[in-house]
Amino acid sequence: MFIEIHELELHPIDFEEEIRPGVLDLGEDLRQVEAVRTAGRAQLVEEQHGKHQIVKDIRLDGKLATRVELPCARCLEPVLQDVEHKFDLLYRPQGADAGREELSVTAAEAEVSYYQGEGLLLEDVLQEQVLLALPLKVICRDDCKGLCSHCGKNLNVKQCGCAEPLEDPRWSALKDIRGKLDH
Ligand SMILES: [Zn+2]
Ligand SMILES: [Zn+2]
Repeated sequence: MFIEIHELELHPIDFEEEIRPGVLDLGEDLRQVEAVRTAGRAQLVEEQHGKHQIVKDIRLDGKLATRVELPCARCLEPVLQDVEHKFDLLYRPQGADAGREELSVTAAEAEVSYYQGEGLLLEDVLQEQVLLALPLKVICRDDCKGLCSHCGKNLNVKQCGCAEPLEDPRWSALKDIRGKLDH
């Protein structure tokens, strides 16, 4: 859905969309399991810049929800993750802030990004917002044992035959430091 500045000059645009898996590019590690459901409103915000210039910003506020699958940070098995996110964004025309140091009050309230040309593609906004809403890492369960650092086996499934390290690596690190101090 393309949000056109010309249409916003006439009236705000309310949107309610479902974006099926495969449309947004969420990267290789991530699988979108359900449609991204989104609803919100786009409106024009006119800002006076200096005496003669009026800058036409697009304010976009709304929410999104979806469900994705991403790899466990320890064992790499897929983990289902519900995503719910609210956004309130301000898009300025590209170049409008060139050489300006202070942002206006409206800009301080909302996050500011930039749009190019005649408007804004809602899908681009959602793609970014879904990724922003994700946790930095997920684990499949609190006691996930992860992968063996020697053979790579998933230790949740089966204990591998690799020998346990003889010494806790933290102690050997400490010994190292002591060794250095002694000399
Ligand atoms: Zn795991
Ligand atoms: Zn192993």
